[in-house]
Amino acid sequence: MTSASIKPNAEHIIPTLHPAFAKRRCFRADSVCGELWDILDQVCDPELPGLTLWDLGVLQDVQVSNDASNNQQITVVITPTYSGCPAVDAMSEDAIKALNNAGFNQVKVAVILAPAWSTDMISPNGKKQLRALSIAPPNEHDNVDCPVCGSGETEVLSQFGSTACKAMYRCLSCSEVFDYFKNL
Ligand SMILES: [Zn+2]
Repeated sequence: MTSASIKPNAEHIIPTLHPAFAKRRCFRADSVCGELWDILDQVCDPELPGLTLWDLGVLQDVQVSNDASNNQQITVVITPTYSGCPAVDAMSEDAIKALNNAGFNQVKVAVILAPAWSTDMISPNGKKQLRALSIAPPNEHDNVDCPVCGSGETEVLSQFGSTACKAMYRCLSCSEVFDYFKNL
C-alpha cells in the first residue's frame, strides 16, 4: 500500500511537529532507559539558558551496557549543532555530572557527527524557549518573525550574529535587534 492511499484523519495531524522531531520523540519513548533521559533533561546548552540538550536536538541516544565486571556503563550520544561547536566539551561534562549526581558513576559521552544535526531536530518546546531568549527559531522558509512582538516585518543586519549558527536581524515594527537561529 502506498502512503497516497492512506486517508489521513485530520484529528491526528499535528502540523507544527516536524517529522525529524517526531522520529526523535518515538525513539526516546521506546528507550528502555527513560529514567536516564529524564535526568539528562537537566542539562542545557551553556549558551542557551533553559534550552535542554534534548530540546535542542543534541541528545541522540542513551545506552546502557555491562562491562566485564558487570558494572553498568552508560554512554550518552550527542551530535553537536555544528562541527567545531565549542560548547560540546561543556555539554559533555554537564551530562556526565548530571548522571554522576544521580548515582550513575560510569558515564561516557560519544560524539557522533553523522547523521548531522539539523534545526529540524529542535523540539516545539525548544523553539518556544528560543523565543523566550529573544532568539527567532529556525523555520523552513527563513521567514523571520520578531521574537518580541511577533511582527513579520524584519530585516537582516548581518548573516553572522553572536555565533556562526545565528544571523542578526532587526524588527521594523518594534526596532528590537535579535538573533535568528539559522535553518540548517
Ligand atoms: Zn518586534
